[in-house]
Amino acid sequence: VPQPITKELSMTSNTLRDADLSYVLHPYTNLVAHETKGPLIAVRGEGVRVFDETGRDYIEGMAGLWCASLGFNEPRLVEAATRQMKELPFFHMFSHKSHAPGIELSQALIERAPVPMARVFFANSGSEANDTALKMIWYYNNAVGRPEKKKVIARQRAYHGVTVASASLTCLPANHRDFDLPIARILHTGSPQYYREGLPGESEDEFARRRARELEELILAEGPETVAAFFAEPVMGAGGVILPPGRYFEYIQEVLRKYDILFVADEVICGFGRTGQYWGSQTYDLKPDILTCAKALSSAYLPISAVLVNEKVYQALRTNSGKIGTFGHGYTYSAHPVSAAVALETLRLYDERDILSNVARSGARLQARLRALADHPLVGDARGIGLIGALEMVKDKASHASFEPTLAVGPRIVERAQEHGVILRAMAADAIAFSPPLIISEAEVDDMMDRFERALNDVAADILK
Ligand code: PMP
Repeated sequence: VPQPITKELSMTSNTLRDADLSYVLHPYTNLVAHETKGPLIAVRGEGVRVFDETGRDYIEGMAGLWCASLGFNEPRLVEAATRQMKELPFFHMFSHKSHAPGIELSQALIERAPVPMARVFFANSGSEANDTALKMIWYYNNAVGRPEKKKVIARQRAYHGVTVASASLTCLPANHRDFDLPIARILHTGSPQYYREGLPGESEDEFARRRARELEELILAEGPETVAAFFAEPVMGAGGVILPPGRYFEYIQEVLRKYDILFVADEVICGFGRTGQYWGSQTYDLKPDILTCAKALSSAYLPISAVLVNEKVYQALRTNSGKIGTFGHGYTYSAHPVSAAVALETLRLYDERDILSNVARSGARLQARLRALADHPLVGDARGIGLIGALEMVKDKASHASFEPTLAVGPRIVERAQEHGVILRAMAADAIAFSPPLIISEAEVDDMMDRFERALNDVAADILK
C-alpha cells in the first residue's frame, strides 16, 4: 500500500537514509559500497556551499557535476523559472510551433558563439546533445551524397555522455566494459595526455604532433572517404582534466581540414567561462562546425543542452538534397520554455556580473594553489586553466608510476576532503578534479584549498608512514 505523499517533505534524516538505501538506484555509484556508506543528503545551498541535514557545510569544489556555475541559491534564476511557469509552463517546437524563451535563447547563443554559427537545436543533457550531433553528421553526409562517410573519431579518455551513441564516443573502461560498447563506426585515437603518454625526451609539442600524425594514420587506414567527424572536449573533464599540449589542436584541425572531416567541439564542461574565455574553443582556437553545450548553460538549475551548427551543416539539414520534407529528430522537451527562460537569465547574469573577470581572478588563485602543491609528496602533476584543475597522485614522481589501485588513494583523499568540508571528485589514475562554481571568490578558493590540504596531509600521513 503506498504511503500518502504529504504536502511537505516529511521524512527524518534516518528514515531518508533508509529509504534511499531501499529505493534509489544511484547513477555512477558503486552500488554495493553504497549499502554501507550511505548517501550524503544535501538539504540546501548558499553560494558555493551546500548543507547537509545536520547543518554541516561543504564547499562544492565541483559545482555539483561541473555545472552549478552561479552557485546554489541564485534568486534571479528562481524568479525566471517562476515567471515562465506561471506564464506558459510548457510548449514545444515541433512542426512550426515556437515560444519566446526558446527563440531568445537561440539568438543569444548564436550571438555569443566562438565561430559563426547558423542555428541552434535544443536537447536536455550533454549526452543528448552529442547524440544529436552524431545523428546530424550522419544525416549531413547522406544529404550531401556521401553515404559511405559515416565513421566518427573520438579520443581515448574522452567523456561525451552515456546514451548508447554518446557512451560509444566516451572512451573510459567503465562506460564500455559490460555494456557491449562502443557501437560500430565509432573509433578512438590517442588521448592528449602528455603527462602519462609523452615519450621520454619528447617535448609537449612533439607529442602533440605525434598525436596528430596518429590521427592521420587512422583516417588513412580507415579510408578518408569513410570518416565523417571528430569529437573533442577543449579540456578533457571526466577523463582526468587533461589540457591540450603545445599546439595540439592546431595540428589536429589541419588533419581534419585536409580530409574534409567535421569538427565537433564538446563544450559541455568548458562552455560559459570555465577555461577563462567564454568558450574553450576561444581559449584553444578551435573552429568547430558543430558545438555542443549544457551544464553551465542554465547553471544546472534545470536540464537543457544545445547543439549549434554552422551554415554548411545547416544547409544540408535544411534541404537534404530535396529528399525528405521533415528533419526527423527532436525531443518532447527540446527548448523546454522554463529551462530556456532559466538559461537566458543565466546568460544575462554572466554578462551583468562579468563572470569572466571573476574566473580570471579566482582562477589565478586556484591555479596558484594547485601548483603550490606540485612538491607535495603525493602529487605527481598539478594542472589546470581558469576554474578547472586537477592534482594527480603518484607513487613515484620521476616515473609517474601510480599507486596500486587497491590503495584507492584518490577516493580516500576525496572521502577525507568531504569530512573536512569540501566536495571533490576522484578520477582515473588517482587524479582529483576541481571545478568550483564560477562565482567563487578568491577567499573561498583559499578556504576550499585549505580544507583540501588537510585531507591530503591526512592521507599522506597514512600512506607514507
Ligand atoms: N560531455 C562532457 C564533456 C561532459 O563532461 C558530460 C557530463 N559530465 C557530458 C558530455 C554528458 O552530459 P550529461 O551528463 O548531461 O548527459
